[in-house]
Amino acid sequence: MEDTIGAIGTALGESGIGIVRLSGPDSEHIIEQLFIPVNRENWSRRQSHRLYLGHFRKSGSGQEVIDQVLVVIMKGPHSYTGEDVAEIHCHGGYLVVRSVLEAVLNQGARLAEPGEFTRRAFLNGKLDLAQAEATIDLIRSKSRTGLAIAVGNLDGKLSQLIDYCQEELLRILAYCEASIDFPEDEIEVMQPEEIEEIITSVINRLERLLADFDKGRLLQDGVKTVILGKPNVGKSSLLNAILGRERAIVTDIPGTTRDLIEEYVDLGGIPLRMVDTAGIRPTEDLVEKIGVEKTKEVLKEADLALLVLDAATGLTDNDQLVWQLAKEAGVPLIVLINKVDLDEVAIGREQLKQMDSGLTVLEISALSGYGLPALEEKVQEMVGLGEVRWEGEPLITRLRHRQAVTKAVDHLKQLLVSLEQGLPEDFLTIDLRGAWEALGEINGKTVGEDVLDRIFAEFCIGK
Ligand code: GDP
Repeated sequence: MEDTIGAIGTALGESGIGIVRLSGPDSEHIIEQLFIPVNRENWSRRQSHRLYLGHFRKSGSGQEVIDQVLVVIMKGPHSYTGEDVAEIHCHGGYLVVRSVLEAVLNQGARLAEPGEFTRRAFLNGKLDLAQAEATIDLIRSKSRTGLAIAVGNLDGKLSQLIDYCQEELLRILAYCEASIDFPEDEIEVMQPEEIEEIITSVINRLERLLADFDKGRLLQDGVKTVILGKPNVGKSSLLNAILGRERAIVTDIPGTTRDLIEEYVDLGGIPLRMVDTAGIRPTEDLVEKIGVEKTKEVLKEADLALLVLDAATGLTDNDQLVWQLAKEAGVPLIVLINKVDLDEVAIGREQLKQMDSGLTVLEISALSGYGLPALEEKVQEMVGLGEVRWEGEPLITRLRHRQAVTKAVDHLKQLLVSLEQGLPEDFLTIDLRGAWEALGEINGKTVGEDVLDRIFAEFCIGK
């Protein structure tokens, strides 16, 4: 039998409420030991999925109270994990939530591992692997579109497509196996053309997923963007303008690989992941600060570069250098002539266009917000999101999924070749099974423990 796990489900810090969650067969028993209800009678006739007010004590034997709380028991299988789940809603605050957690651990619960609640939900069939992964994406979403994709996948958008493809393959597989095992029997014959038609349609759907992978990844992970330009041209103002327009929240995430702060801004649903914002704050010129070689490196990693110019002061040698470097690095570059609200304008769009007709130039005013909608459109276009905006179709955003889909498509293409060569059914079954299994890596029908370990290690504790 599974043990009972417990963890803090909310972020630690001062907040209105904090939630400690339990899952497993002892959940209710642990609550019974520690919870002193305000209304004993109600509690004794308690129902699943209802909140009860009372006090939470430190241990089952003592009377020392930690906090006034609300508790809820959610009887399995109608719970997140499919097991008996209990939640204690206490006041937020480091000490309160920690004390409640300690109390339930002392009462016999084990501290949950990262993602263990969701892993149990997956193992109990409450959601498939693609949906489980979508919950991480959801929590980490940096833009409205990224969030919408994650919600769609959590609702099963991707899973439904994968399941559908698997069922189609299974239908053919069943036919092939029957005709191998019972060649004499009257089984409904599937013509090679019919098989070909089904397989081709499945391939088309999967290839669509592959084609949209970059889109999904960009929308989910963010477009790595570097803002360049000499001091005082308005780089921070531009960032603030984007932030203000979208009322987005700036997130500071300590860079994992380098000692950098990463920030996300939401530009019309596209998450821009600002690289090296250290270079623009305090007011500094990234190129002067870190040198040409480092700038080249930064550019190489970027999906998009924005070069900000000051309309009043015009173009400097350094600006031209950046422009050249971006070109060499093959990074989509948008030159922004800022402060066009000013009267004295030393440089305009036309002038720059004359210097390089292929250049993308926009006139903006970070102060008034002029030109930002155009910037939004340009960014979409330049990072390949322009023609095909996300319209709710299933998307894959993970490398793991892309590998699995690629493997499936390879098998199916091989199958078409075998079909064309008129090879017998048992040849077909090998690739049918291969493709089915590859797709099973996405919904989790065919994954091993090691893959699960890796996936759930990405989660936070308490999810
Ligand atoms: P940074 O050094 O490139 O980050 O530049 P800042 O964003 O700090 O801006 C430098 C100065 O230019 C500030 O005084 C801003 O208010 C001003 N500024 C920025 N954008 C505009 C704009 O579009 N129009 C005008 N008139 N002033 C601007």
